[in-house]
Amino acid sequence: MKCKKCSSEAIIHLKQHNIALCPEHYEEFFYSRVKKAIKRYRMFGPDWKILVAVSGGKDSLVLWEVLNNLGYEADGLYIDLGIGKYSETSKTKAVSFAEKRGLKLFISSVREYLGGLSTPEAAKIMRRKTCSICGLVKRYIMNRFSHESGYDVIATGHNLDDEAATLFGNLTHWQLGYLEKQYPVLPKTHPKLTPKVKPLILLTEREVATFALMKSIDYIMVECPASKGASSMLYKELLNILEVNQPGTKHRFLTEYFKVKDIFSGQEGKIELKECSICGYPTTQDICSFCKLQEGINKRINEKGR
Ligand code: AMP
Ligand code: ZN
Ligand code: ZN
Repeated sequence: MKCKKCSSEAIIHLKQHNIALCPEHYEEFFYSRVKKAIKRYRMFGPDWKILVAVSGGKDSLVLWEVLNNLGYEADGLYIDLGIGKYSETSKTKAVSFAEKRGLKLFISSVREYLGGLSTPEAAKIMRRKTCSICGLVKRYIMNRFSHESGYDVIATGHNLDDEAATLFGNLTHWQLGYLEKQYPVLPKTHPKLTPKVKPLILLTEREVATFALMKSIDYIMVECPASKGASSMLYKELLNILEVNQPGTKHRFLTEYFKVKDIFSGQEGKIELKECSICGYPTTQDICSFCKLQEGINKRINEKGR
């Protein structure tokens, strides 16, 4: 297969565009997609201080590399969730990536926040699913850390497949509140809430993986053991079946949704954000869900100790 632009050997065939590209022209394509997403969805300006949420997986490492090469000031934050070998390996990948490139990486551990417990331990004590505790804790730590350290925006590695799968799930279950919020930018709706952006939104999982391979980026390949059987995997598979038959479906499904998503606005009523009476960070209730979790954990630990 030859590159459409220069006729040298192609590294990837992009069926939805009906083109094949060599490494050099694929890199050009990849960067232009990220720039397009940043511009189209007005993610951030050239002088913004960016905090990249780095998981040690391909998406966030590729994102970190690309943002730095585009000249942005982008530091990393790795959150150690304490999920056994999986967390150890992903941390090693994030640390060695940062060291090799001389990038600044902060490491935060959930144990500091959860009375010394890991995410699975906290989930067990609270009789909740690890993924629900994990999502809550990650969101809280990312926001709090970015606010305390003066970052203007948090960038996550979510790609087109991730977001299309989320949209598919939200539509099949008619989650109006989530549909209203699903967008590549979560704006600053409170002074202590850092906006969140997803600059890889226009690139598929396969495109990001090809870029990582091409750039010899060493990332954790295994999925989180706690996410096994997650419905997002099923939605991704279903969308990929459609994509094979109708190339470009995933892209269209997501980007056309962003154009019409206002049809869902106001469905959940107006949400008033106030400050948590314990930690001071934004919440819709008196006490935020993170502080409630901490209280619940402490209560159960004390009950056990008695
Ligand atoms: P996931 O929800 O695991 O698919 O991850 C989506 C995005 O969240 C990743 O691309 C990262 O930007 C971020 N993320 C996930 N896990 C972590 C972590 N342990 N530390 C920091 N950021 C993370
Ligand atoms: Zn070429
Ligand atoms: Zn709180």
